[in-house]
Amino acid sequence: MGIKKINRKAYLNLVETVLFLDFIKGLSVTIRNMIKKPITTQYPKEKLTPPKRFRGAHGHFVWDGTEPDSLKAIEKFMSYEKGKSRCVACYMCQTACPMPSLFRIEAVQLPDGRKKVVRFDMNLLNCLFCGLCVDACPVGCLTMTDIFELANYSRRDEVLNMERLEIHGKDFTARRGEEPDRIWPDDKERERLWGKIEWS
Ligand code: SF4
Ligand code: SF4
Repeated sequence: MGIKKINRKAYLNLVETVLFLDFIKGLSVTIRNMIKKPITTQYPKEKLTPPKRFRGAHGHFVWDGTEPDSLKAIEKFMSYEKGKSRCVACYMCQTACPMPSLFRIEAVQLPDGRKKVVRFDMNLLNCLFCGLCVDACPVGCLTMTDIFELANYSRRDEVLNMERLEIHGKDFTARRGEEPDRIWPDDKERERLWGKIEWS
């Protein structure tokens, strides 16, 4: 492979040398950037709210009476409690996941024949935040929230259990449940990238 030659002046001409043209050009770039609005933020003092479809920590939507009628039939074979996870322990999320070993899902059969989920752990240390598990969930139980501060002092704290997943799900519904699903930060940015979309 040959060496690529860069066509570059070996030295400045007399006018450029006397008038410091290169220096002024460089300075103008610096001044332009000094007066521009910065695109960075002063984290952690300043925190941005990610778009609703941001793929942060997972959460479970809970059984709260607002489910579609199609889901009500599930009550016949699942033991649900109000305010608790909608999970039916079908393992679809684990099957779709590229790192299935990060899940620990267990269910038991109650004396009345119905099924009850007793364990749902997710080890986020192995998670790629790809969202495949969310797409695979047939009852719309699993979601990803806008929670992005996931650093902890111990590995154990990186495991989300059912209780924490339910808390995330309730919190996310309360804060952003009414917002349309978005992958862009605001309407202007969306219109610039995707054109005008009418929300139904
Ligand atoms: S986001 Fe991806 S890697 Fe993480 S649990 Fe879901 S499917 Fe697995
Ligand atoms: S896919 Fe949904 S319902 Fe099935 S085990 Fe996972 S979270 Fe539970």
